[in-house]
Amino acid sequence: MTCQLNSEQLIVLVSGGGPVGMTFALSLSTMMKTHAKIYVYEGRWYADGDGKMKWQGEEQSRNRRDQVVTLQDHVIHQLPTFIQVGLFANINERVWPTSRNIPIREVEDRLLVLAEPFVESGQIVLVPENLNEKSDRLLNGQFDVLIGSDGVGSFVRNYCKIDLHRAANEYACGVAYNIPIEVSSDEEPLHQALNCILTIGQTRYLVNSSTSRRGYLNVRLTSDEYNELQEHLKRNERNERVNLLNFDKYPNSPVWTIIRQGLDYFKIPHKFVFRVLPIEINVQHATSVVKEFEFPLNNDTKTTKKIPVCLAGDAAMAVHFWPGRGMNSGMKAAMALSRNIARLFIQEDSSRIQIHKPLTYFDFLDYEDFMLRLRQREQHGRSLRITNNPIDESVLVANTFSNLNGSYEYYVGTLKEKLQSIRALLQNRPDWPHRHRLISDEEIQSASNRISANAVAQLSLANPWPTREMAGAEVLLEDYFPLEQKTWLPLPSTVTWIVPDHVQQSVARNKITTTDEPIPFIPIDYIVRPSDPIYAIWCTEIGGESFPVTPGYQIGQFPPDEGPQNIFDLNNQTKYFCYGKYAADHYFDEKAWFRAGFFVTPTRGITCALGFYFGTANDFPERDPMMITIEGSNETNPMIGSNWTLIYNGSSGLEIDPGRNSCGIEQHILNDKWFSTYRILVTKTRDESDGAQYSQFYFFGH
Ligand SMILES: Cc1cc2nc3c(=O)[nH]c(=O)nc-3n(C[C@H](O)[C@H](O)[C@H](O)COP(=O)(O)OP(=O)(O)OC[C@H]3O[C@@H](n4cnc5c(N)ncnc54)[C@H](O)[C@@H]3O)c2cc1C
Repeated sequence: MTCQLNSEQLIVLVSGGGPVGMTFALSLSTMMKTHAKIYVYEGRWYADGDGKMKWQGEEQSRNRRDQVVTLQDHVIHQLPTFIQVGLFANINERVWPTSRNIPIREVEDRLLVLAEPFVESGQIVLVPENLNEKSDRLLNGQFDVLIGSDGVGSFVRNYCKIDLHRAANEYACGVAYNIPIEVSSDEEPLHQALNCILTIGQTRYLVNSSTSRRGYLNVRLTSDEYNELQEHLKRNERNERVNLLNFDKYPNSPVWTIIRQGLDYFKIPHKFVFRVLPIEINVQHATSVVKEFEFPLNNDTKTTKKIPVCLAGDAAMAVHFWPGRGMNSGMKAAMALSRNIARLFIQEDSSRIQIHKPLTYFDFLDYEDFMLRLRQREQHGRSLRITNNPIDESVLVANTFSNLNGSYEYYVGTLKEKLQSIRALLQNRPDWPHRHRLISDEEIQSASNRISANAVAQLSLANPWPTREMAGAEVLLEDYFPLEQKTWLPLPSTVTWIVPDHVQQSVARNKITTTDEPIPFIPIDYIVRPSDPIYAIWCTEIGGESFPVTPGYQIGQFPPDEGPQNIFDLNNQTKYFCYGKYAADHYFDEKAWFRAGFFVTPTRGITCALGFYFGTANDFPERDPMMITIEGSNETNPMIGSNWTLIYNGSSGLEIDPGRNSCGIEQHILNDKWFSTYRILVTKTRDESDGAQYSQFYFFGH
């Protein structure tokens, strides 16, 4: 291999701007800065009047995707920090253990917004069209590597003649629903804890949703049911809303019956269904994810240029979505590939980025190796364990026996037992996110009461999720492309927050620095150490001076052994309790405790706060903080100064009582400012009370 050193840019073509393509582009841009120019092609984008790229939706007669995906913590933590924060700002839903749920369209929207500064700086070029054999950039060969992140039917994989191996195939459908906030009590959806138990207890239905209200009921189908569904939907107008209340159009035929039964099992009112999508599940993979391909230049087969091609995401390997690992694996692949490329050029001492060309197959051996392991883990370790047990047999047996006398009681009993054992398994897990919401026998029983004898039999006969067999060690990105890289890969240092008009919830926007200096990665960590100086205060106005609280048992005091030092001692059995009840002879107003709290000066030095969660105290839930403010200051004596900047005013994350001595939900702070001291004030407690108390305040940031 001849290795020519020069200062040129690396030109990267990416086909597909889905979750994997955009994660790859952002991750690579962050590391390579202006040394890489990345062209991302995506056929589902359009440029609006201002030239801004957006996803096509109903206005363009396209359907956005409705599914909710579950991203694993160990994958999220490998994403550059600004992507982590940008993806999950205002979306904080833990449904399954050690993971977070997020609607796929939020992933798509937010990644596009996060790319804006890179587009402004010219590092990323977004092209709102499909890459095809006539695309100019493909024909003129002016690129150094081609990335195929264009999904299951990958154009790149086909064009570059990379073979596909299909390991298994089966059928399903996605039933999209949206339950409004205001519904009658009998239309209220089930709690997510119950959705999980009902899902894991069998393999016919899977519900994954946001806040239980918007999501997908997935139904595994036999091939007959799938064919019936496809035939039926062919007769619908394009984008026609499915109306399950219309029995003339959607009769009680086998497939519509099994869909309606699934909705009843999860207590999803039929009228809130708006789309049903047939899904062919192909567990398949490209025989190689890296190839050197002879690209014919300008359609002339005699003039060719050899350029490496890499596949990532569903284009490289498609797994069964039941265990929810497609996007997780795709994002791992995107980060692995970007780290593989970056480390070809970034000098060991991180002092310089040196581009050398041409790239060859051998430059991507680590990536190929990583993908091989990942495929073995996901396909053999997960997907094939599902497809090895198709649904057909339980359907057949249920159809034969379910209506016989005595069978019904038997099937109801076995289904209940299965669900109870899943409940025990989940509720005993230390990482079960619904510890505060125990599921009763009645709730389990009522699921079978809502469905027909035949459906009870099917669910009773269907295997529960093979969770034990699927569990075990993950293939970790950091083992192949270690985290330590972050200490020398130049990641952006400044983060600014905006609320873009076309994304409904506020999302993060990253401003990159254009300097060529390597910027050290700053990890997220706890800000306060147990011995850091902390002062109890009360009656303190936002932006005003602080009023100290002394030890004692009177209004405006804290019991001597329940002082503020307890909240950072990493022990949830101790607490900080500040009395604040109104007393007639007291000159403070009756809401004095509303503004009780503390300020702390971390010995780490100045820090940038990004989030927190509370630990509740041992008793009196009414004293739990509900609303809080967080202010930052760089005053040398914060007790007398009033130079405070408000960085958070909102929920404590304890709206749902997690129980005593338990942790609340993590809250994010949209902040890019650095401070030496933080002041936290409780502005509302759960209920009327004689003060505010909590055991821990887990406070994290850079
Ligand atoms: C019902 C359901 C539930 C799921 N749940 C989960 C889950 O919980 N967890 C999980 O990890 N995964 C889940 N998945 C899988 C996950 O959605 C996919 O694995 C993931 O979307 C793959 O991302 P990708 O970017 O590789 O492909 P895609 O998301 O398919 O994106 C590919 C993009 O390429 C574009 N494209 C195609 N051809 C071209 C071309 N020629 N030029 C330019 N662009 C092109 C497409 O328009 C598309 O935007 C689920 C899937 C389904 C169907």
